[in-house]
Amino acid sequence: MSAKTEDGVIIGLEIHVQLNRLNSKLFCSCGLDYHNSPPNTHTCPVCLGLPGSLPVLNKSAVASAIKVALALNCKILPQTQFYRKNYYYPDLPKGFQVTQYDYPISVDGHLELEGDQGMKRIRINRVHIEEDPGRLVHEGTIDRSKFTLVDYNRAGVPLLEIVTEPDMRSPKEARRFLNKLRNLLEYLDIFDGDLDGAIRVDANISLAGGARAEVKNISSYKGAERALAFEIVRQRNVLRRGDVVIQETRHFDELRGVTVSMRTKETEHDYRYFPEPDLVPMRVQAWVPAIQDSMPELPEAQRTRFLAEYGITENHAASLTIEPNLARFFEDVAREIEPTTCAAWIVDVLTGELNYRDLKIDAFTADDMIKILKLFLDEVITERGAITVIREILDNGGTPAGIVSEKELAKVAEDTVSSAVSEVLLECSDAILDYRSGEAKALNYLVGQVMKKTRGRADPSEARSKLLEQMDLRD
Ligand SMILES: [Zn+2]
Repeated sequence: MSAKTEDGVIIGLEIHVQLNRLNSKLFCSCGLDYHNSPPNTHTCPVCLGLPGSLPVLNKSAVASAIKVALALNCKILPQTQFYRKNYYYPDLPKGFQVTQYDYPISVDGHLELEGDQGMKRIRINRVHIEEDPGRLVHEGTIDRSKFTLVDYNRAGVPLLEIVTEPDMRSPKEARRFLNKLRNLLEYLDIFDGDLDGAIRVDANISLAGGARAEVKNISSYKGAERALAFEIVRQRNVLRRGDVVIQETRHFDELRGVTVSMRTKETEHDYRYFPEPDLVPMRVQAWVPAIQDSMPELPEAQRTRFLAEYGITENHAASLTIEPNLARFFEDVAREIEPTTCAAWIVDVLTGELNYRDLKIDAFTADDMIKILKLFLDEVITERGAITVIREILDNGGTPAGIVSEKELAKVAEDTVSSAVSEVLLECSDAILDYRSGEAKALNYLVGQVMKKTRGRADPSEARSKLLEQMDLRD
């Protein structure tokens, strides 16, 4: 039996997603573009919870929630209701958070993913709408800071809480689930996952025979996998010592890669949930068909279509549908260039160059990619020349044609390669002997000499075949 099944790892996730592409907060007209603003500049009486202020629900936030619910195969409930979740914490100026409790907007969904033992279904318990609290800023780490600052720019930002059933069995599965979820959310165009705090994960984790610990506010995907891996080791050690794992809330310290105890977990009745009297119940079902019709093509459907429509490989289709902008880029280039060629260049070359520079696909234009591939396919430049043009555009800008002439990348004519080969064969008789006596490496040396004579503008594979051809003739 493997250690994993012996331990009986059980993981459930609660994911908070900021609907940060909307224009305003959940219950007021304050803007969401606060990331580069000074603290407490995107606030008003509503999101500061001043007495007498009343909330007005943001309709687009509800539409986004319905989109996410549909994409996660959830049922939309006929009537839905906001509740007050009462607790006191400095990030919550009202003394309660407006959220959903009974009657969330949607329940009972699922997401299929590649699990540790093949495809599996992760059940979604619910997707509900709530408001984000303010942001507490600690100097250094949360458990060592001498003081706390509070910024209410984030208070009232529309959030979705997505709650899974405890269906994941390893930190890797949890990470795959999060990757897949993020991919889906990006396709729905409801959030920008790169913004600070756009997605936060609370993970419930337990081993067989132990209580579960809740690790709060993990702010990255890698963080989630690391926090869970740490918790498994910690809980395993507690059980091995013969102690019991207590039910508690823990904080993940991203810098140190450890979880630390924060407080024993409140139970639900501590929050005194009651219906928010300032917001009427909603009935959204009549609206659902119109939203369903406006749904974009989702990654899985797009992947299937790419396979059928373009005849590209499964791997390329999977890589191209990791990000909607990348998929769009591919389709733009594939309008002009044979699709399997452009899939290979985009996935195998361009994305590697982008990742190396920590750039995204919007750093490159489809138009430039088309021009470069045309130059390559028309045999004006070599494969190496095409890669040089891509790198040069990313590093210093410029146009493909400009770079080809400036860097003298145009491929040399075939007879120039032939004469360079003849010269090399005359000059390097030792290497020829080595090659003939079975030293395969000597051929690479000869190709290198041809490249040198043509100042790198010969196609290495062409040089290679010409060398072999001419050496045979000399036999
Ligand atoms: Zn406000």
